[in-house]
Amino acid sequence: MSNDLKGKVNRLGIMGGTFDPIHYGHLVAAEMARGEFNLSKVLFIPSGTPPHKVNRDVSAANLRYEMVELAIQDNPAFDLSALEIERIGLSYTVETLRVLRRAWPEYELYFITGTDALLEIFSWRDAEEILTMIQFIGAARPGFDASDFLLKVQQEHPETQGRIHYLEVPALAISSTDIRARVRNGQPIRYLLPELVRLFLQKHGLYTAE
Ligand code: ATP
Ligand code: MG
Repeated sequence: MSNDLKGKVNRLGIMGGTFDPIHYGHLVAAEMARGEFNLSKVLFIPSGTPPHKVNRDVSAANLRYEMVELAIQDNPAFDLSALEIERIGLSYTVETLRVLRRAWPEYELYFITGTDALLEIFSWRDAEEILTMIQFIGAARPGFDASDFLLKVQQEHPETQGRIHYLEVPALAISSTDIRARVRNGQPIRYLLPELVRLFLQKHGLYTAE
């Protein structure tokens, strides 16, 4: 590392998700995390076939990818990766992080999730390894209070000390599940997600049937 770079930490945010469809809950969480933790970039990584969603028909990966592309195009700090959708088989976060760790050795990695996902991290494959590789940011999500969880983690997993961060954001009770149900029921979804994404899913007839 050259002298003038010393002390300057490059931080990369990672926002994984199904994004079926992407909505303002995702975008607000990512942008607030970027600001709060001084992230140089947030990389959105749409999942391939998510291990915990095999029971539901998830929209085609290329459509979910395109929706993310439309949603982030006006934010110069947001970027998109096809890493998981190009991988054959199930995507496990730990594998993605190993790849990113190698690709961005000079970056500190910050994995951004909502508090619902944060509450489940210890059920993820190789959770301990994940927690030594990266920092974790759990963004407030209505209905998922993480305070008890964070206390318990401090007691039971002292090795994660200082690596799991709770982030207050202007919380949005928006979910992809709710948006899909609204489309199915003919209810409005405008203002829950970027207009370009709304027009895209309309054009492709997404979520109109069960
Ligand atoms: P679904 O209802 O299909 O599960 P979702 O709205 O939960 O969709 P995901 O693609 O599952 O969206 O979420 C990707 C990531 O974004 C997860 O870490 C999730 O916790 C987070 N997230 C989703 N919605 C919000 C929100 N409204 N506020 C904060 N974080 C969110
Ligand atoms: Mg979800």
